[in-house]
Amino acid sequence: MRIGIIGAGIGGLATALSLEAAGFRDITVHERTDAIRGLGVGLNLLPHAIRELTELGLRDRVEALGVAPETLVYMNRFGQHIWSEPRGLAAGYRWPQLSVHRGRLQLALRDAVVERLGDVIRLGHRLVDVQGGDDGSETVRFATGDGETTAAYDLVIGADGIHSALRALRYPAEGAPPWSGLTLWRGVAEAPLLVDGRTMIMAGDGEQKFVAYPLGAPEGGRQRLNFIAEKRGTGPFESLKDRADWNRAVDPGPIAELFADWRFDGLDVPGIIANAEEILEYPMVDRDALPQWTFGRTTLVGDAAHAMYPNGSNGGSQAILDARTLAFHLGTAVRAGASGGAGDPAQGAAIDAALAAYEEARRPAMTALLAGTRATGPERVMLLAAERAPQGFARIDDVIPRSEREEIANAYKRAAGFAPSILNERASLSVGDPA
Ligand SMILES: Cc1cc2nc3c(=O)[nH]c(=O)nc-3n(C[C@H](O)[C@H](O)[C@H](O)COP(=O)(O)OP(=O)(O)OC[C@H]3O[C@@H](n4cnc5c(N)ncnc54)[C@H](O)[C@@H]3O)c2cc1C
Repeated sequence: MRIGIIGAGIGGLATALSLEAAGFRDITVHERTDAIRGLGVGLNLLPHAIRELTELGLRDRVEALGVAPETLVYMNRFGQHIWSEPRGLAAGYRWPQLSVHRGRLQLALRDAVVERLGDVIRLGHRLVDVQGGDDGSETVRFATGDGETTAAYDLVIGADGIHSALRALRYPAEGAPPWSGLTLWRGVAEAPLLVDGRTMIMAGDGEQKFVAYPLGAPEGGRQRLNFIAEKRGTGPFESLKDRADWNRAVDPGPIAELFADWRFDGLDVPGIIANAEEILEYPMVDRDALPQWTFGRTTLVGDAAHAMYPNGSNGGSQAILDARTLAFHLGTAVRAGASGGAGDPAQGAAIDAALAAYEEARRPAMTALLAGTRATGPERVMLLAAERAPQGFARIDDVIPRSEREEIANAYKRAAGFAPSILNERASLSVGDPA
């Protein structure tokens, strides 16, 4: 069976690796850019994603890239503690949470794809069109540096991110991703240890926020931190809110100014921002939930299917879960090496059934998670604290009872599929693995 994957980001590469593990070999990945440069700053891989990477035999190499945060602390804009909770192994999961550089993760996944599948990544191939044929195959047209080329597949998987071209072919009226009204400035800076060197912090409210987590091991009382500074409006720059570009670099100075009085408890927010190696500006955008991902023998994974706000740190993790779920259903239903491909009626029916099972397993869950993330996800405690005690508080229990804070944290974990009891107990997505 010939499988074409569009996009060599986190979702596309994880899909290639998951399909390989499920028995498929005839896989080609098409990437728009001319080189995989490993761009971005930090992202978090939650325990549900680390479980899948572990089952793909990638845990050691991914663990070597990052830091496992053990505590997450939510504070208000005055540095007063609202909620803190253990993360990863410390929270009773069988798998850790890992904070990694997005680009280093992408390069590690790329290397694993090349090791396991060979030279299957076609760079400089931008999908522009897909046409289904009478024999069930899909012919994909790509723009390349020197013109155009086409390729025919029995299955095409769109992992082409928030600006997905495959999604746009299915939903031509959709337009640009809707903007939340917030602007994000993401960066990496060397800074004094954040608490114990294994703590992730979120400070602020719905108007302005600062998130930081370690990306490197402590060295002499300092470490590399990833941060996201966030503010309602376009900030000091002529923000391109309609052009969500992951690589737009801006000057740190004016951003540090916005946070000038955010200095508390050993945390010097303006100092961290001013010290950034680079600051990338990005509008807080997502995508509306879709009524359908699969059309003919094409489907969507990752941000192409359900780009979401970074609240909850779930974008990369959910792309990996899509990849594993899709490969599980295909590997269970479809004869990987069948020569008849999608034109063979039995094989074609099996592909259709697998795509339907994938969509059934993932789309309603992502629709609910998108809604929860738009409602600020687990960060709701910060909004409530600001609403009920805008000038700060003496005792958080008087502002938000512990049971309410606990329920906000737990409800989000259930919605995202990583409540410890559910994740630890659920069956594996490895094909043929009864565990
Ligand atoms: C350059 C870049 C930097 C990022 N930085 C961060 C970050 O610092 N922190 C964070 O949390 N998230 C970041 N993200 C987003 C994050 O990777 C995703 O939210 C998440 O990992 C889901 O991954 P994905 O594979 O669905 O999408 P992405 O990782 O966005 O990958 C999509 C891939 O598809 C390719 N593509 C797009 N259109 C086409 C086309 N028409 N034909 C072929 N290929 C196409 C893109 O070049 C890209 O490689 C970044 C994404 C990109 C592209």
